[in-house]
Amino acid sequence: MGGNLERTSVPLADVALSRSVLDRSVERRADPGLLASLVADPATRVLALVRDSAEVSDGAGRATLLLRPPEPADATRLGLFLGTDGDGAAYLAVVDDAADEGDARDLRTLRQVGADLGDRDASLLTTALGLANWHRTHTHCPRCGAATRPEQGGWLRRCSEDGSEHYPRTDPAVIMSVVDADDRLLMARGAGWGEGRYSVLAGFVEPGETLEAAVTREVREEVGVDVVDVRFLGDQPWPFPTSIMLGFTARALGTGLSLQESEIADARWFTRDELLEGVARGELFTSPRLSISRWLVEHWLGRPIVPPQVATEPDR
Ligand SMILES: [Zn+2]
Repeated sequence: MGGNLERTSVPLADVALSRSVLDRSVERRADPGLLASLVADPATRVLALVRDSAEVSDGAGRATLLLRPPEPADATRLGLFLGTDGDGAAYLAVVDDAADEGDARDLRTLRQVGADLGDRDASLLTTALGLANWHRTHTHCPRCGAATRPEQGGWLRRCSEDGSEHYPRTDPAVIMSVVDADDRLLMARGAGWGEGRYSVLAGFVEPGETLEAAVTREVREEVGVDVVDVRFLGDQPWPFPTSIMLGFTARALGTGLSLQESEIADARWFTRDELLEGVARGELFTSPRLSISRWLVEHWLGRPIVPPQVATEPDR
């Protein structure tokens, strides 16, 4: 257990999408002329979001967002003020869902390129996507049903009838590496996942629940295991559509598994050798490099998983 306890005290490092370098410049949001002035300023750097994609230059494991100067039509699009960088450049996302399907731009999703973006671009796209996803589903007031309108540089929607304010949501989810007394890792295959695809367990935090209680409940619910020593390791914004993943590790009190059939197709305890051999044989597929799930597995493993795998299936 000594090695395991040492490892669990070390936080996750450099999780993808979690290295924000933008200054959100929150004090500028209150300026009602903010978006108009950003669109009028040729120095503004615009991230055009087309549904869940953006134009990217991609090659040799390195991806870069193709930002552009503002264009007049941006004034009619949903504008999201993302912040400024150290050089004072302002970043504006615009939602351009009207772009047609035959768009010639090289549009890529955050899932496709997130792990290869630099810190600034990952921050920009993650923030823009989470915010845009919230706007898409909050067009009407939950109190009275009237239309809501964006304010505060896209960081607020206000009801046009009763004036109520609605702020962007971030839904917390816990994700956890569960380790047994022999230092084996619990991984499960979700219902409907491809054969061989395994991940650590995860689930949404419920109202009235602490994060630790959510970890304990999800593990018991999904595989029937009781856990103790729940420790936070790191987190990751996960705008699919509007979550934040809170990464934990926990120690299992037993190894008997009782699966929740509607959610879990299979669950197993893996030794490090079993995991590495399964990956090497092409029989075991862990989560893509983008997700904190992969970081949690590698944290337990004590080294990166090679060869890197490509994301082909949805993440939990
Ligand atoms: Zn209302």
